[in-house]
Amino acid sequence: MSFVLLGLSLLAASVAAGVPARVSYVITPRLEQRRLEVATAVSASAFTRLCVDMPGAGGALRDVVLHPADGGSPTELQADPDDEDCVHLPSARTQASLRYVVDLAALSRHHNDADFASELPGGWVFHDAAVLLHPADLPDDAELRVEFVVRAGVSVATPWKADGPGRFVFSGRQHDAGAYVALGALRTLAPITTPQGTAQLTVLDAPKRASDATLRDWLARQLSTLSAYYRAWPSTWPGPLHVVLAGVPADEAGVFGTVLRRQAPSVLLLFGAQATQGFDDDWVALHELFHLGNPPIDGRFAWFIEGFTTYVSELLRGRAGARDEARVWGDLAQGLRTYCQPEDGVSLGQASRELRRVQNWQRVYWGGACLALRVDVAIRQRSKGKQSLDDVLRALRSSKVKLTEAQVVEALDAAVGGPLARTHLASRTPLPLDELLRALGVGAVVDGRAVLDDSARLARLRRDLVSAPLP
Ligand SMILES: [Zn+2]
Repeated sequence: MSFVLLGLSLLAASVAAGVPARVSYVITPRLEQRRLEVATAVSASAFTRLCVDMPGAGGALRDVVLHPADGGSPTELQADPDDEDCVHLPSARTQASLRYVVDLAALSRHHNDADFASELPGGWVFHDAAVLLHPADLPDDAELRVEFVVRAGVSVATPWKADGPGRFVFSGRQHDAGAYVALGALRTLAPITTPQGTAQLTVLDAPKRASDATLRDWLARQLSTLSAYYRAWPSTWPGPLHVVLAGVPADEAGVFGTVLRRQAPSVLLLFGAQATQGFDDDWVALHELFHLGNPPIDGRFAWFIEGFTTYVSELLRGRAGARDEARVWGDLAQGLRTYCQPEDGVSLGQASRELRRVQNWQRVYWGGACLALRVDVAIRQRSKGKQSLDDVLRALRSSKVKLTEAQVVEALDAAVGGPLARTHLASRTPLPLDELLRALGVGAVVDGRAVLDDSARLARLRRDLVSAPLP
């Protein structure tokens, strides 16, 4: 018997009206075999269907076996023929424990990202929604408990509330928001503590050239820049920010990042294990951490979430003093000139809606950044420099309700005083980007630096965009 079943509380008893559902898991990582063994407790009479949320993750579940509590013979459960991410429970009335194996190798092979499972030097990072089988309709107020049974040398880092060593408790709402769980040889760096908030930093222990202090300073600086920008901690979550750092074979400082920003947020940042410099001027961490302060939205519209984040992140490197104005405009002008214009009559709005299918990321990110620049300039002109896009983003961020795409467009157009965002998103013909860059005095880009013309009509506004000191 390879499982240690410890203190499983049954979700069965808890479906009575008014009592929140409870689900408990015991997870035994077998990292050398690249798998997790999971035990949970179920009542076949209370729930008939269990699912994992991440589409396709069910294909990495193995040996899903129901063990009746009365000692009857175990039953292997098959995936729902119509949905590989779910299993049906037999309609027995007895309580039982359900055990299954998560094939981490299969999760990482098929999807190769932390939204499923990612094998990294020093350990693994997985998304809880790819791993935890739970009743198909998990209520927001359900209580989930996870206990990890790990061998010496392996530890766990999660954004969840700790409830003893290796034990965590969180809500159905939190599960819906998602978490990046790190497992492996982990080290904790000194937390970043500021008057606005705190961040807990976990690094997957593997050879790297940058010191721990360099990594910590990298994030501390970005969080300070963003706290100044938002005039608050970038995440509205009151608890500490869970950040996982992993070094991968590369020379550049920031390599890749991803965040889960609802409820208790998770941040995963990959840095170059060979990098010793470039952390001051890095874009990856700044961009990802900026996302923590994106407004709550309803649906997906990457032209805004990614495009506006791309635009402001570029400006912030200048405002934080990490690079000078010519370099900021060098990057911006190159990205905008390459990706702003509708291609083959496809508008930015349409490209954004088709993003997942067509995967034209650069077009949507930079196309959105192009709209952000146009909106920012228009607001600054209209208000004679007293207002900017920053004010709009800060206001949207404090929304208590999720904003639809139409509401965001409306807010941008209200700030501009005309249908700029609406027409830009729908435009299938060339947009006046070249005229705008000329008016701003942004010329050719040479060796990554833009030639800037201080006699241009909007040169002053251009300088304000980049050099406005952070408050
Ligand atoms: Zn992004």
